[in-house]
Amino acid sequence: MAYQTINPFNNQVLNSYENISDDQLEKVLTDSHALYLKWRDEPSETRRDTLHRIATMMRSEKTQLATTVTQEMGKLIGESEAEVELCADIADYFADHAAEFLARKPLDTVIGDAYYEKQALGVLFMVEPWNFPYYQIMRVFAPNFMIGNPMLLKHASNTPSSAEAFVDIIRRAGAPTASLTNLFVDYDQVDKAIADPRVVGVALTGSERGGASVAKTAGQNLKKSTMELGGNDPFIVLSDADMNKVKRVAPVARLSNAGQICAASKRFIVMADKYDEFLTMLKQAFEQVKPGDPMDPATTLAPLSSAKSKTALQKQVDAAVDAGATVFYGNHPIDLPGQFFQPTILTDITKDNPAYNQELFGPVASVYKVNSEEEAIALANDSSYGLGSAIFTEDTKHADAVAQQIEAGMTFINRAWATLPELPFGGVKNSGYGREMYELGFDAFVNEHLVVNAKD
Ligand code: NAP
Repeated sequence: MAYQTINPFNNQVLNSYENISDDQLEKVLTDSHALYLKWRDEPSETRRDTLHRIATMMRSEKTQLATTVTQEMGKLIGESEAEVELCADIADYFADHAAEFLARKPLDTVIGDAYYEKQALGVLFMVEPWNFPYYQIMRVFAPNFMIGNPMLLKHASNTPSSAEAFVDIIRRAGAPTASLTNLFVDYDQVDKAIADPRVVGVALTGSERGGASVAKTAGQNLKKSTMELGGNDPFIVLSDADMNKVKRVAPVARLSNAGQICAASKRFIVMADKYDEFLTMLKQAFEQVKPGDPMDPATTLAPLSSAKSKTALQKQVDAAVDAGATVFYGNHPIDLPGQFFQPTILTDITKDNPAYNQELFGPVASVYKVNSEEEAIALANDSSYGLGSAIFTEDTKHADAVAQQIEAGMTFINRAWATLPELPFGGVKNSGYGREMYELGFDAFVNEHLVVNAKD
């Protein structure tokens, strides 16, 4: 069965789910479209209290929701709880700001009284990954629920229980059944649903491979799409960086969620005069992790999400080493039955090494030495990805000038990546297109409807 919950800490199969039939998919499309027709005539205010209730229920059911995630994809229980809280914050934010974001905008024109208004577009299809099983759904769900776009969800095949838990909570909060429907479908059914005239847009978060396939179907059917894809984010340490800050931030920037974050820092680009100190510091931090049961708050290194993820990462590290990379630290098996990967530091990655332009989705840091700021910027930009980036320097004014030169959707100065409802999230190049969160999260799937009342 394709959709299964397998606990990556002990490899136990906890749940399995049957795929739905094409007839069931047809019924869901009909119901979702009917809800769109209803919602089209109802202002966002009518949904505000329900979204706030979803937030409240998520907070009060945090422990159970977090346990489902940890047992399903292995992240540390504290990180799962933080994810649930973040989801509640996103729900509250969009409930509070929808009326303002959707307000009618008057337009200045010589031909009459004009305005445009952001209106619901129709049924959306979302395809989401396993690394933040609730947060990825909420980024799309909260704004589009307020806009009035019903949603269909195809979640990752290894996080079906989280998808079910999310849908369950929004139903119990009083949202109509068709607000968000979780579908256990195969890729052909995804294509079929996207091609259906009742579906007007697709939001995908995932890999370049999955994104290219789904974007192709969307393009062939002239459907709007947003793509939130992978990253190989640079973390630049300039000569005047405060190394105490770097020491506090760099290990967490790489190891959170066992390294499985799109916008995690993955390439550490360090000025020559800080390089040895940086490597020593990172190694010391990586040596201190405690692998173990992710339900135990004392554990600091979780397993990877699945056997497949671990095999794929090991293959990438082996290929990097075969191509001449040095293992500065790590890359030894961890003696536990779960899908653990020892934090690893790679150096001497040359441009012809496959790891130079690959996302390593796990606790593996690539560290590069550079001799000038220009070299650091050029290296940061020499990537097919462009999601996030971080710059460490005590000259914050100058840091802003450096940030302007980085080809990335997001840059953080003197801190690691962050995600909050009030900050737009997304990338450029092969990291995708479109933005989620903030007001920009409202712009992807709306009809900016122009109305002109002509002068005589
Ligand atoms: P993935 O293989 O692309 O899977 C993501 C989702 O897409 C899953 O639901 C998957 O379903 C589905 N999918 C894949 N190929 C498909 C196809 N041809 N047709 C329909 N659905 C398809 O990605 P992953 O490797 O598991 O996830 C990690 C990736 O997501 C990383 O690259 C990470 O950087 C990226 N990510 C990006 C962001 C962002 O905001 N930019 C956030 C989080 C993660 P199955 O599970 O059934 O294959």
